[in-house]
Amino acid sequence: MCDQKSIYIHIPFCVKKCDYCDFFSLTDLSLIPVYIRALQKEIKKRSGTKEKIDTIYFGGGTPSLLPVKYIDKVLNSIGDNFLISRDVEVTFEVNPGTVTPHYLKQLKTSGINRLSIGVQSFNEDKLRFLTRIHTVQQAVKTIKDAGTAGFDNISMDFIYGLFFETRNIWEKDLKQAIGMTPSHLSCYMLTIEPGTPLDEKLKKGLITRTKGKIMSRMFKETAIFLTHNNYEQYEISSFSKGRQNRSRHNSKYWDMTPYHGFGAAAHSYDGQTRSWNPENIETYIKDLDSGGLPVEDRESLTKNQKMMEMIMLRLRTLEGLDLAKFKILFNESFEKKYKDILKRIFADSLGFIKDQRFALTLEGKSRLDGIVEAFAEKIL
Ligand code: SF4
Repeated sequence: MCDQKSIYIHIPFCVKKCDYCDFFSLTDLSLIPVYIRALQKEIKKRSGTKEKIDTIYFGGGTPSLLPVKYIDKVLNSIGDNFLISRDVEVTFEVNPGTVTPHYLKQLKTSGINRLSIGVQSFNEDKLRFLTRIHTVQQAVKTIKDAGTAGFDNISMDFIYGLFFETRNIWEKDLKQAIGMTPSHLSCYMLTIEPGTPLDEKLKKGLITRTKGKIMSRMFKETAIFLTHNNYEQYEISSFSKGRQNRSRHNSKYWDMTPYHGFGAAAHSYDGQTRSWNPENIETYIKDLDSGGLPVEDRESLTKNQKMMEMIMLRLRTLEGLDLAKFKILFNESFEKKYKDILKRIFADSLGFIKDQRFALTLEGKSRLDGIVEAFAEKIL
């Protein structure tokens, strides 16, 4: 396990809520200054001994709504309280439609060295359906402007599987995406989360849900297309041009490396205990103003929970689960313990063991939920 930790910063502000989104964010931007002050307090309070940090991630919400002076404040607080690795990866999520070429240049100067741009699609109908605040033209411009500003490590986020989306629409999205030569792509299937406006529309019969079979086909076709174009599927939704362009930050989550999460609704993990901050900005700020830590709750993972988490996270990845590491951590043989499940997986060609690692085939990955469920039934 890597001895350097990660820092996640949650920026819970958005211009408006997208219909499909269930992340914690607010549209009252007047709270930004006081929120940043609270963030700085939290960073200081939780620093303790100067820990080594080699990845920082600004997520949201919409971090690109932050004026650069606030980003500098947050980065300075991190620098004052942690030991930052010389080759630190600093990722910043950008929503097209919120940035100018000047802003992107300022980001570069601030020390941000990786952008994650929420393109979602190059199709106007898809963007309208998702109620994004930007147009295709704005997304294209943001990508070009980011390159001009000097960013050479750019990831783009896409969503697919909308009920009216044909194979052709998604293929065009992917072709246009790789034509812009990003170093990384994240392609997510649309999920309709309970309580979102999209869920309401579904209940009213205004939209439908894409069938599982079609989703599964699109998932596999996406992986095959991107792999043929030299993007490696190193995680179920993540594709990178070469190993060096993987998201180092996210890779640590899938490796269960401890991380600090700062900000309202942010989660932290210290290798044994998971804790999370309140999903309420006022409570978050009040907790810090009164001198406490803004922790809503924490849970110490049992051996079985840890085992489940490891299986669930590692099966998402290209390298899969390290059998020797499993034995050291849990003092049990993975192959013996899950003999019956593995027998079924091998019989259906959904997974394999190679170089002492258990990983899923593409077909297996397309059925990940069912496979994880099989392990959960036995473990939990
Ligand atoms: S911009 Fe991102 S975080 Fe904000 S509402 Fe839309 S999807 Fe959610």
